[in-house]
Amino acid sequence: MIVDRFERPLASLRVSVTDRCNLRCRYCMPEQEYVWLPKQSILTFEEIARLVGIFTSLGVGKVRLTGGEPLLRHDLPALAAMLTQNRDIRDLALTTNGLLLARSAQALKQAGLGRVTVSLDTLRPERMQALARSDRHADVLAGIAAARGAGFPVKLNTVVIRGVNDDELVDLIEFARTHQAEVRFIEYMDVGGATGWSADQVVSQREIHEVLSGRYGTIAPVPSQDLSAPAERFRLPDGTTFGIVSSTTAPFCRACDRSRLTADGTWFLCLYAERGIDLREPLRNGASDAALSDLIGSTWGRRTDRGAEERLGVKHRSPLYQLDGLRADPHREMHTRGG
Ligand code: SAM
Repeated sequence: MIVDRFERPLASLRVSVTDRCNLRCRYCMPEQEYVWLPKQSILTFEEIARLVGIFTSLGVGKVRLTGGEPLLRHDLPALAAMLTQNRDIRDLALTTNGLLLARSAQALKQAGLGRVTVSLDTLRPERMQALARSDRHADVLAGIAAARGAGFPVKLNTVVIRGVNDDELVDLIEFARTHQAEVRFIEYMDVGGATGWSADQVVSQREIHEVLSGRYGTIAPVPSQDLSAPAERFRLPDGTTFGIVSSTTAPFCRACDRSRLTADGTWFLCLYAERGIDLREPLRNGASDAALSDLIGSTWGRRTDRGAEERLGVKHRSPLYQLDGLRADPHREMHTRGG
């Protein structure tokens, strides 16, 4: 196991397989046009599997496929099957917006994927139109049903935005309960791409608690063995569990063991990091596994990132990047880094 300067292990890797997305969520991709990664820079499945193998040899045991929208990548189950061959991966998960999940759920299960997280910000189709510029709400629900039908444990990610969907907390808890899923409420983050972010739109963990305890009664924390998990889990009096990711108002960078590999092989040590490390160039120029392992291991050993905590210290917080900064380097976008 290798650790960074704060003794945090390299344990969890998010792999973005594409920067493309078929939604335009206002908190992530609000613009009309984007600068995309060049096609020839996108890693093949073989290249991804090789890099993941180096990461797992250094201690990574949790891998999450994400994007962009990962199911836009042709034949994603084939990548899941390749990664399933890697015995060091003990948790292989997928984050998706669900639009294309119904048709792939069975194949992903057969490939050995372990679990699925579906983004679901609203239960109201007309709200999805306003929030994500899509009229395909029914496809998301079909995707969730197909994932459960295929036997996946399912989590639902909801970014809570004041005045947009903060009146749906109870409805989402009830939906998750009836669909044997677990909802995770995510505080709106000022990440790259969230150009419409402002502090007053953030619904904090404390406020979410107030609403839910007002409706259900006492909420108890669920003790966790995994202190690095991004969500804190809670239990309602009837046993229903849910999570809250409070990266905006109460980040806990000291336990963060996550890093992110973009679809073009750039490795980010923190969601808020200014720059990433180019792994594609050495990979394609013939670097040995040992050389790549040295590069990754020594880079992690120097890691001091604690981006979300640093953002908390900013007095007058505004979006991390303005549009011209994002256009100058698409790696700054959340949809490129992988959520
Ligand atoms: N397309 C997939 C999806 O929709 O789940 C995967 C990529 S998406 C970037 C991954 C996660 O990032 C989503 O669950 C989304 O809710 C979250 N996300 C994106 N922008 C965010 C923001 N500004 N604040 C909080 N969460 C955000």
